[in-house]
Amino acid sequence: MQPVSNYVNGSILHSQPQPQIVHSTTRSNTMPNWRGHLPIVTESYQTPTNFSQKVFLGGVPAELNEAELLLVLRKFGKCNIKWPKNDGVKSNKPSFCHVVYRESRSVSELLKHCTRQQRSTVDYFLHIHMLPSSTDFSIRTTRFKPIQVVPWNMKDNVYAVQQKNASNTEIPYKDWSRTIFVSPLHGKMTAFSLGSIMSNVFGAVSITQINTDKYGYPTGTGTILFYDSHSYMRAVAAGAIDIKCDCFHKLLDIDPFLRENEPCAFCPSIADAFCRNFHCLRSYCKQCWVQKHGPKPLADHQPATRRQQPLPHM
Ligand SMILES: [Zn+2]
Ligand SMILES: [Zn+2]
Repeated sequence: MQPVSNYVNGSILHSQPQPQIVHSTTRSNTMPNWRGHLPIVTESYQTPTNFSQKVFLGGVPAELNEAELLLVLRKFGKCNIKWPKNDGVKSNKPSFCHVVYRESRSVSELLKHCTRQQRSTVDYFLHIHMLPSSTDFSIRTTRFKPIQVVPWNMKDNVYAVQQKNASNTEIPYKDWSRTIFVSPLHGKMTAFSLGSIMSNVFGAVSITQINTDKYGYPTGTGTILFYDSHSYMRAVAAGAIDIKCDCFHKLLDIDPFLRENEPCAFCPSIADAFCRNFHCLRSYCKQCWVQKHGPKPLADHQPATRRQQPLPHM
């Protein structure tokens, strides 16, 4: 029985073609697949957006240096550029970066100067006027190059479903025993789209949260609280989900959310791992893991360890 879904901000849900859920047979363990159009909330309500000061810029031309890029971006407000961390392997300038504005309204100004491409989601492009370079004789005329601009609406950080027959309509409290941790998320994934897909595949979801940095910008991980423990157990036992939609194809890891200082289920020690096997689904300290599972690792009893914001690329 599915609870009635209402978007918390009162927006109407976008009607989408029915997604397909396929259980792959090519893998030894059945990996759930989800196929369909990325579920999105319509913009029809025109509720004011609340942009993060941090914006993704993609397709930055190699011939554009940082000073030139800043010159363009600072027309809309004070800002700095954050380049991806150099892992020492690539020496070339990366083709993407983040710009962090001091004020959120600068992002709105920037977007006003972008062209919009409406597909299932909106894509923005800033056309940068490239001056002919004195060193590059192949460029004889001035031209424009598009930079992809991907803003983040902080309203997409949380999605909560109100439960039917609930005594109040407040966001239900977090129950970590039914919460999963997912990573790595795609940049186009909102809490609504993630929650909708997970509820479609595993069962009703109460709250979906996208983890964010100090700018309210996604760090690439999220948590999902399921409505009942059966849906939670199905998700944890699956361990991953393959999502292919009109915008991207992404494999997400699913882990049980383990709190800091989670106790072992069998002794007072602090747990080190969680067994994701359907018959266990418990936290274990090192000793109890060996005691309960035997000294040899059991193939289908895989430990999951607590992971907090583990994204290396931030
Ligand atoms: Zn123990
Ligand atoms: Zn086990």
